[in-house]
Amino acid sequence: MNDELPTFVTHLECSATGASYEADRVHGLSDAGKPLLVRYDLDALARSIDKETLAQRDGGFWRYREFLPVRRAENVIRLGEVVTPIIRLSRLEPDGGELLVKDEGRLPTGSFKARGLALAVSMAKELGLAHLAMPTNGNAGAALAAYAAQAGLRSTVFCPDDTPEVNVSEIELQGATVYRVNGLINDCGKLVSEGTAAAGWFDCSTLKEPYRIEGKKTMGLELAEQLAWELPDAIFYPTGGGTGLIGMWKAFAELEAIGWIGSKRPKMVAVQASGCAPIVKAYEAGEEHAELWADAHTVAAGIRVPAAIGDFLILRAVRESGGFAIAVPDEAILTARDEVARSEGLLLCPEGAATYAAYKRALDDGRIAPHERTVLYNCATGLKYPMPPVTQFLDKNGPIDFAAL
Ligand SMILES: *Cc1c(COP(=O)(O)O)cnc(C)c1O
Repeated sequence: MNDELPTFVTHLECSATGASYEADRVHGLSDAGKPLLVRYDLDALARSIDKETLAQRDGGFWRYREFLPVRRAENVIRLGEVVTPIIRLSRLEPDGGELLVKDEGRLPTGSFKARGLALAVSMAKELGLAHLAMPTNGNAGAALAAYAAQAGLRSTVFCPDDTPEVNVSEIELQGATVYRVNGLINDCGKLVSEGTAAAGWFDCSTLKEPYRIEGKKTMGLELAEQLAWELPDAIFYPTGGGTGLIGMWKAFAELEAIGWIGSKRPKMVAVQASGCAPIVKAYEAGEEHAELWADAHTVAAGIRVPAAIGDFLILRAVRESGGFAIAVPDEAILTARDEVARSEGLLLCPEGAATYAAYKRALDDGRIAPHERTVLYNCATGLKYPMPPVTQFLDKNGPIDFAAL
C-alpha cells in the first residue's frame, strides 16, 4: 500500500515580503512577523487531478488532498468531515435574486474551525510536534482539542473568562487542558507565546502557523465545486482573524491558475459587529492595516477579534474583489437570526446572522443589487449559543382552550 499522498508543496512564502521558506519544517510567522502562505507546483497539481476524478470522492474537505500540504496518509486526521450544504433562503431572498447560506455548522465540533484545525493538527503530527496550544473565544479551541485528541497529541487552551460555559466544557471534554483567564483574547495569546518559549508548546493561534489557512482554503474549493465551478457574485463572510476570507481568496487564485475557473471573482464582503469593527474602520479610512479596537464587545464571539495579524491580507482581498467591509450592531444580528430561523427553519449562529443583517443593509444602500447571487457563510451551529428563553407554560390539570393554542 502506498502511504504517500500526492502533494505539490514547493515552499512557504512570507505574505508581506515574498521571502521563501523551506517546506517540511516547523514554521510560525515569517522573519517579518507576518503569516506564511503555502505555495504549490500548480502545473504538476493540475496534471494530477481533474474535476471528474474529484467528483467521485467523498471525505469532506479531505477530498481536496492535492491542494493540501499533508504528505503521508497516516497523518490525515479525520472526524467524519462532510461537504457542507448550501441552503437557499427562498422566502427571504429578493425577487429575481438568489440568496444562499453555506452552512458550516455541520462540520465536526459544530464550526468551520474544523477545517483549519484539522490541517494544523495533521501537519503538526507530520512535523513531529507533540504539544499544541492556543488562545480561543471558543470554537477554535474545541476544534483543536478534538483533532489533537484524535491525533494523540496534547493540547492546552486559554479562554477569556467570559467565554460561554458550553465552549469551555466542550474543549475540556474533547481532551484538552483548558484554562479561563482573567483577560481578553490577546492576553490569552500572550500566555501561549510565553508557554511556547518556556515549555516548548507549538503556537496554533490564528495565522501564526501556516496550515490553518490551507484548511480554510477548502471553503473556496468546495463552494466553487458545489456551484459547478461558477463563483457567485458576492460572498458575505463574518470576519474575525479573517482566515476564511484569506483562504477562499487563495483558493480562487489557485483554481484560476490551474484553469478550473476564469477570472471572475465574487465581491468579498468582510462583515463585522459594530462593537468590534477594526477591519471596517481601516477599509473606510483607506488604510492597509487596522488599528487595535478598544473595548471590543459583541454577541458574535467568533468575530470579537480586536486585532488581526492578517489585516492587510483581508483588506487586499476585499479591495481587489470590488467588495467592501461592513459593520452591523448586535440588535440587528439577533433580529436577523430570529428572522431566518422563523421564516426558513435555519438556526444561524450570531456570526452567520451578522452576514444576513449586513446583506440586507447592502441591498438597501445599493452596494449589492437584488439580482446578485450571494452566499452567506454560517460558520457554526446556532445551538452552541444562548437562545431567547421560552416562558409559555401549560397547566395540564387546568382547562385548556385547544383552539387558542
Ligand atoms: C472563528 C469564527 C469566525 C471568524 O473566522 P475567521 O476566519 O477567523 O475570520 C466567524 N464565525 C465563527 C462562528 C467563528 O467561530
